[in-house]
This record gives sequence, C-alpha cells and structure tokens, in this order.
Amino acid sequence: MKILSPSPRLPVPQSPLPQSTIKIMAYAHKITGAHPINLNDIDPEDDQGLDREEGEERLRALSEELTQLQELLYAASDHSVLVVLQGRDTSGKDGTIRAVMGPLNALGCSVASFKVPTAKELAHDFLWRIHQHTPGLGEIIIFNRSHYEDVLVVRVHKLVPEKVWRARYDHINHFEKLLTDHKTIILKFYLHISKKEQEERLLEREQEPEKYWKLSVTDWNEREYWNDYTRAYEDAINRCSTPHAPWFIVPANKKWFRNLAVAETIVNALRPYKNEWRKKLEVTGKEEKARIEEYRRQLKVSKK
Ligand code: ADP
Repeated sequence: MKILSPSPRLPVPQSPLPQSTIKIMAYAHKITGAHPINLNDIDPEDDQGLDREEGEERLRALSEELTQLQELLYAASDHSVLVVLQGRDTSGKDGTIRAVMGPLNALGCSVASFKVPTAKELAHDFLWRIHQHTPGLGEIIIFNRSHYEDVLVVRVHKLVPEKVWRARYDHINHFEKLLTDHKTIILKFYLHISKKEQEERLLEREQEPEKYWKLSVTDWNEREYWNDYTRAYEDAINRCSTPHAPWFIVPANKKWFRNLAVAETIVNALRPYKNEWRKKLEVTGKEEKARIEEYRRQLKVSKK
C-alpha cells in the first residue's frame, strides 16, 4: 500500500526553500495510484500525537502562509487551483471550507456546490455542469461535492447502468488531465470519518434546536449503504489518483486535525510555485515601470 507516512512534529517550513530541501509534513495520506488503498487501513481518529491547542496554532501559521500564497497566485495569474472536497454526510465539508478557506480573499476564491442534478444538467454529459465551474488563472475554486458524485451516489443507488458509471473513471482522468495541462493545480480530499463518529454527529444535531435545519432523514437512510459507499470511495480514489491529480485521505474524526491536514496539504502544494510567481510579478512590474517612464519622457518631449 503506497501511503506517504506522516511525519509528526516537524516544524512548519518558513522560507521558500527549493522543493527538494523542504521537509514535507504529511498529516493527510497522499494517494498517487501506485498501489490500491483500503479505507479500513486508515484511522479516522488519527491526530499524529498533536493536541488541539498545538494543532490550532499550526493552522494559524498555515492560514497566514496560505493567504500570502493566494495573493501571489492571484497577482501572477499563471496557475489556477481546484480543491475537491468529498466525504460522507457530516464529514465536515462545510466546516473545512469555513476554517481553511474563510481567511482567504473572496476576490479570487469561491465555492461551487453540486447537488442532485437538474433536468437540464441530466440532459448533458456528467462533466458539463462541472466544467463551467473550474477555476480560471489566478483563482481558487473549492468543489463542495463534485464530478465524483457520479461514481459514488450514482453507483450506490444504481442511478445509471454499471457500464455507464464504470466508463466515468476514464472520463474523469482525462478531464482532470485536461485541467492540469492548462495549469490547474488539483487537490482532492476525502474527509474520512468513522461510522460511529457520524452517528454521534447526527444525534448531536437533534440535541440542538439551532441545528435542526441540518436534519435530514436521508442522512440516516444513507448510513444503510455505508459499506457500498466505502467500496465506491475506494474505487474512485484508487482509479482516479494520479501524480498530477492525487487524492488525499484526511483523518476527519477530529475537526481541528482535519482542518490542519487540509490546510497543510494545500500550502505544501502551492509553496513550490512561490518563487516562480514572484519572479513573474517582478518582470511584469519592471516592464510596466519602464512603460510609465517612457510615457513621461514622451510627455516632456511633446510639451517642449
Ligand atoms: P450537502 O449534503 O452537500 O450539504 P445536500 O444536503 O443538498 O448538500 O445534498 C446534496 C445531495 O446531492 C447529496 O445527497 C448528493 O449525493 C446529491 N448529489 C450530488 N451530485 C449528484 C449526482 N450527480 N447525482 C445524484 N445525486 C447527486
């Protein structure tokens, strides 16, 4: 099984060192597709021996770095970033977006949520509605659910014949290759919670009237299909993990650890581009400065 083993308690790298010299921490498990994984081998309770306070402190440092990276990404407009968030009900997709992406500048960052397809969406291929929301240069787009629903819920509930959903793994891989060929950095996260943790979260909602709006009988019904979803997730992750668009499995029973793991993965993925983006901005800045000087020179000449 190819899972990069996480190395706990390494310091957050502060300087833009060349990639080879950076000690990459790994709170999330990166899957590159070389060997199939089994979700039961990954502990959703994992926290790498950190305590909550330590984790939240690290998240603050990472958030600051992510904010700076976003500014460079936006200004350089040379790449785009697509973050895919998948997970079972209550796994914390919304909470992750609030905690990790909340501090970012809304100017270059937004969320696209994918619900049950409309009649118009169903009248097209399954990637039609997705492609319209992919990020442009300089942007970060977070997918709250995604094209993967078409090999998850669609497979589990037999919404299309097997032949149709099976062909979708290849379609997805080609689609994601197209995006990465066009300078999209793709990071896909599976928020991994246990069945027991899900039950506790669902029951907790029923204790708090202000959370009643989140209640849904479908969530309980979907639990009946827990093992089918496990198989569907494993296949999606194993078939669609590629070096250019890897999946990351995030132990998500502890919300603070989940947020830390997602933030760290995004920062680690963007940090290597920092110098490249800075250089581009330096060059364009110098060019524009030269243009302004030339403009002033011409103005002086014309006034003589
Ligand atoms: P969420 O659970 O993401 O907060 P909702 O409660 O509105 O939002 O759930 C969205 C629902 O849409 C989920 O049950 C999900 O499985 C379903 N869904 C998303 N994409 C598809 C799809 N392609 N086909 C069928 N159902 C889908």
